[in-house]
Amino acid sequence: MARAKTSCVICRKPATAKKPAFEDTMHFDCRECGEFQVSGTFMSNARKLSATVRRQALQRAITRAQYGTLPMVTTYDVP
Ligand SMILES: [Zn+2]
Repeated sequence: MARAKTSCVICRKPATAKKPAFEDTMHFDCRECGEFQVSGTFMSNARKLSATVRRQALQRAITRAQYGTLPMVTTYDVP
């Protein structure tokens, strides 16, 4: 699993990202947003979304995630 310094897909601040093998997701570790995953589709759509909408999508994913599991932001979380 390759770790890379990148910018957070939600807040655009510096974050660490890694791409799990065989999965169309990205795993982010951000000081601002915490730890979460995003789907490949969300990744490719994120640049078209406003910062507010991206944060709302993350909030929804956090609410939906079961306790102890990593939130997964998908395009279905976009308000
Ligand atoms: Zn962030």
